Amino acid sequence: MNVKNSVIKDLVSHYKTISHYSKILALLEWDMNVNLPKNASLDRAEQISLITDQITTLWNNKSFIKNLNKANNLQSNLTDTEKAIIRNLNRLSKYYLKVPPEIISEKAKTTSEAFMVWQQSKASNDFESFAPYLKKIIKLNQIIATHLGYTKNPYDALLDQYEPGLSTEFCKKTFKILQPKLTTLIKKIIKSKKYNLLPSYLLQENYSPIDQKRIAEFIIKNMEYDFESGRIDISTHPFETVLGSEDIRITNMYRNNDFRSSLYSAMHETGHALYEQNIDKALSTTPLEGGVSYAIHESQSRFWENQVGKNPIFINHLFPTIKAFYSDQFKNLTPEKLALFINMVKPGPIRIEADEVTYCLHIILRFELEDDLINNRIKVEDLPKIWNEKIKKYLGIEVCNNSEGVLQDVHWSSGYFGYFPSYALGNLYAAQFLNTLIKKLDFNDILEKGELQTILFWLKDNIYKYGSIIYPEELVKKVTGENLNPEYFINYLTVKYTTLYQLKD
Ligand code: MG
Repeated sequence: MNVKNSVIKDLVSHYKTISHYSKILALLEWDMNVNLPKNASLDRAEQISLITDQITTLWNNKSFIKNLNKANNLQSNLTDTEKAIIRNLNRLSKYYLKVPPEIISEKAKTTSEAFMVWQQSKASNDFESFAPYLKKIIKLNQIIATHLGYTKNPYDALLDQYEPGLSTEFCKKTFKILQPKLTTLIKKIIKSKKYNLLPSYLLQENYSPIDQKRIAEFIIKNMEYDFESGRIDISTHPFETVLGSEDIRITNMYRNNDFRSSLYSAMHETGHALYEQNIDKALSTTPLEGGVSYAIHESQSRFWENQVGKNPIFINHLFPTIKAFYSDQFKNLTPEKLALFINMVKPGPIRIEADEVTYCLHIILRFELEDDLINNRIKVEDLPKIWNEKIKKYLGIEVCNNSEGVLQDVHWSSGYFGYFPSYALGNLYAAQFLNTLIKKLDFNDILEKGELQTILFWLKDNIYKYGSIIYPEELVKKVTGENLNPEYFINYLTVKYTTLYQLKD
């Protein structure tokens, strides 16, 4: 890495300690999700909070802040790498340096209580008990937004925490284009003749977890996930985590009656992992390490899951492999029918179970509610009612209870306001990257032969290797030649589903 300036060298060296502490924290959290005995959770919570405090202290270190101020005043002769380091350190330290410590600790305390209450509330369908915590979390987020600073909308400050430079205005503009087109496409799909031919009986079959695991590992190997620098375990909700530059782990979950879930979780989490495993190693433990943003990360997981994994050509390639495991269940199945089953479009109340056509509508709803809540345009008490109205409007379905509605996601109880839009942007980035990739590579031929490493090399060269050097806005321009444009995603879905369901205009 090209760093000559001594002030910046000191900053990088200080950051290295923060980086290691963050990985220790991630290890404690990984273990909590994968291995922890039931009675160990209180001790673990204390250990996590201890390491979190250490990280806060390191960001608040006086000589670090002094050096960062010095670096911000350096004008001349900085390399691009040095400029990127300063930019990232400003961004990473902003929360700790601008928000008063008492607010940070109040948020930590409130959200850890709120998380417990939310779990109870969700289980017993009781929004009223959670409402006071949600109110407090919104208030804290409003205070945090004021400290972080914004020009137009306090929600901008919160969005920027997850996606550099993302604004409410940009989301509004983008989602306004997206929402009506998605709603129309869904209506067309549901009315199509093919929709009634979906082999739903496959959900009545049983699929052994051992077979599911073997299939997942076969695909992950083909995707060139490096098992020497990672491992796969089981957890309730699949996730990927970085415990070191050579320790990128993923988890999976095996459901007896739906083989799709473990197959596509595996591809999704491996997509996240491939990004991290293929970043230039020289960047590890520096402020340029890791994927650049939540949305770009999500673009990679969704690219592998949906645009590769659920592509009918790739499903055709996989068919004999999967059928070898499920010969009884797949007795009367053709690759075409399997592709329809895997790409089943079904408006439902639950975001994490949504297909790629309905998914963004779940995000648009959450974005609108968060913007309204942070700006005090709606009241927490009215949230369940407004939620259900919006689900009806966008997805045409009724929500049976608050557990399946307003209480379904963990994010608000954890204080993550401004996080959801990055999921939707991930889909948009993925489609736009794909549009460029198919001009450079013979994508269909690659999928037909299952030569996934060719795709990996392209992504590594164009996206992965940069880590956090290039910000999303510049990255999409560098890779695709233009700014983020939702039309690529709309076009991708329209072409794919018009062919799959033989839709007519
Ligand atoms: Mg993900």
